[in-house]
Amino acid sequence: MISVVAPVYNEGAGVDRFVGRMAEVLRGHDYELVLVDDGSRDDSWSRIASNALLDPRVRGVRLSRNFGKEAALLAGLEHAVGDAVVVIDADLQHPPAVIPEMIRRWRSGAQVVEAVKRNRTGQSLGSRLGARVFNRAFTRLTEVDLVNATDFRLLARPALDALLRMPEHSSFFRGTSSWIGFARETIEVDIDQRAGGGSRWTGRALFRLAVNGLTSFTSAPLHLVTLVGMAFAAFSVVLGVQTMVRWMRGDSVAGFPTVILLLLVTGTFVLLGLGVIGEYLARIHEEVRGRPRYLVQERAGVPRVAELVGV
Ligand code: UDP
Ligand code: MG
Repeated sequence: MISVVAPVYNEGAGVDRFVGRMAEVLRGHDYELVLVDDGSRDDSWSRIASNALLDPRVRGVRLSRNFGKEAALLAGLEHAVGDAVVVIDADLQHPPAVIPEMIRRWRSGAQVVEAVKRNRTGQSLGSRLGARVFNRAFTRLTEVDLVNATDFRLLARPALDALLRMPEHSSFFRGTSSWIGFARETIEVDIDQRAGGGSRWTGRALFRLAVNGLTSFTSAPLHLVTLVGMAFAAFSVVLGVQTMVRWMRGDSVAGFPTVILLLLVTGTFVLLGLGVIGEYLARIHEEVRGRPRYLVQERAGVPRVAELVGV
């Protein structure tokens, strides 16, 4: 059986279309659809609930507030009972027509099937550039290749169970689902235009995602702070000696702008360094606090009894 997991945030107008499209592409397959309402403010939940009422293959999980896409994905993955899980955006930007091919690859032995994008549509130049810089940096600093990666992927049960064993609180699905390894294959896809409305991500949420992703995968920024500190130390020695020599020669002290500039530059690096340390500290704090990663307010539809008793 296949589970399709989709996070839903303010997609009320698109839920019916999404459910219908899934029924089309998964015709002939045994499947369940796990729709996670990530604290939507529109009618998403009532749309999900009524679909669950009409179609026993549709299940809904309603989070108690907006926990963010990562948490919503996790909720969906933890509720899915299938032998393979397909994670897909509810806005139909990930072409559902690819799912049967993913299933074929899985049947012929792949444990993880990733969709990688051939193009980028419907994004501003700024966010494209930001994503590019982040993906490049991430790929360089870690073992995980994020260039052109998407969240659209199929995980076989063993891979999914491995993923769910990861205890970290601020998860980064795109990274962790690659980090686990397992037999992987990729499929190139064209990302479509959004079916309705604009991106549900705010600039702030994207920035948090990038920082969380990076800090959970590498401590390279911390080492960078050390390196910059060492460079500054070397520079100070050179400058100090030079200043002393001039002073002994009786050179008059000039260079007020230089002093200001040095103060600003060092101040900047000190603050940046503190910020980097702070990000890691914040992560440790979050992990130590150990709060649940999401809270469920209600559910709609039930997993089939056979699945529950493990038949
Ligand atoms: N989403 C979510 N919680 C959020 C933001 C987004 O569950 O806080 C869902 C959204 O409903 C969609 C998917 O995550 O199914 C991707 O969001 P979106 O299409 O807005 O992102 P983009 O395509 O711009 O990356
Ligand atoms: Mg989208």
